[in-house]
Amino acid sequence: MRFRKLRPAKAGRIFTFFIDFYGALPYDMDENNRKMTKEAAMNQNIFKRNELLAKRVIAGLKSRNMNGYYCADRASALAQALALIPEGSSVTMGGAMSAHEIGLVDALKAGNYNFIDRDEYEDKRAAMLAAYDADFFLSSVNAMTDDGVLINSDGNANRVSAIAQGPRKVVFIVGMNKVCGDVDHAMKRARNVAATTNAQRFGLSTPCAKTGACLNCKSPDTICCQFLITRFSRHTGRIHVILVNDNLGF
Ligand code: SF4
Repeated sequence: MRFRKLRPAKAGRIFTFFIDFYGALPYDMDENNRKMTKEAAMNQNIFKRNELLAKRVIAGLKSRNMNGYYCADRASALAQALALIPEGSSVTMGGAMSAHEIGLVDALKAGNYNFIDRDEYEDKRAAMLAAYDADFFLSSVNAMTDDGVLINSDGNANRVSAIAQGPRKVVFIVGMNKVCGDVDHAMKRARNVAATTNAQRFGLSTPCAKTGACLNCKSPDTICCQFLITRFSRHTGRIHVILVNDNLGF
C-alpha cells in the first residue's frame, strides 16, 4: 500500500535499487573470485619466471667465479646466509635493507657473532677500518644483470670499497626484483629506482628526490659519487649471492 503512494519516478528508482542490489551481488562475488584466481595465477607465473631466471643468474655468477644460491622465500634465504657465516665470525654491513628484511641482521645481533654496528661507534673512521678487516661483509646490490654482473653505487664509497676489497667474504642478499637484462638497464635501475628511493629515504636535496627520476646531478647531496661494476672475482669463494624469490629492498 505504501509503495502505491510513491510518485512513479521515485518508485522506479527504488525498484532499480533492489534489482541492482540483489542482481549485482552474486555477479560481483564471481568477479572478485575471478580477479583473485587471476591474481594468484599471475603471482605463480612471476614466481616460476623468477625461479627459472635465477638458474641463469647462478650460471652467470659461476662463470665469473662467484657463488649463487636460489631461495624460494625469506626464511630459506636467512637459513642459507647463516649456513655461510660460521658462529664467532666478525660481520659488518653497508646499509643493506634486504639483509634486514630477511631477518639476518636481527639473527646475527642475537647470535654468537661479532656484529660490527657502525651506528654504535662514535668514531666512524674506526668503524670503517674495522669493517675492512671483518670476516663477512653483508650487502645487497642496487641492480644486477641476469648473467651475473653486480652494480652498486655509493655516496661515501664505504660500501663499494668494502665490496671491492677488504672483508674476507661478501654475502649479497638480492631480491629477484633487482635482476635486469643487461648492464645498461642495471645502471638505469641503480639510478632511477635505487638511488631515487634512497634520496627520498634520507631526505636528500637532490633533483631525483623532487622528480622521482635521475637527472644526472652534481648536487652536494648526490649519492651517485661512485659506481662499482663487479664483473669477475679473482678470489675464489669470496663473493656469495643469495637470490630470493621476493621483492626486497629497492
Ligand atoms: S645522480 Fe643525482 S639525480 Fe641522479 S639518482 Fe643520483 S642523486 Fe639522484
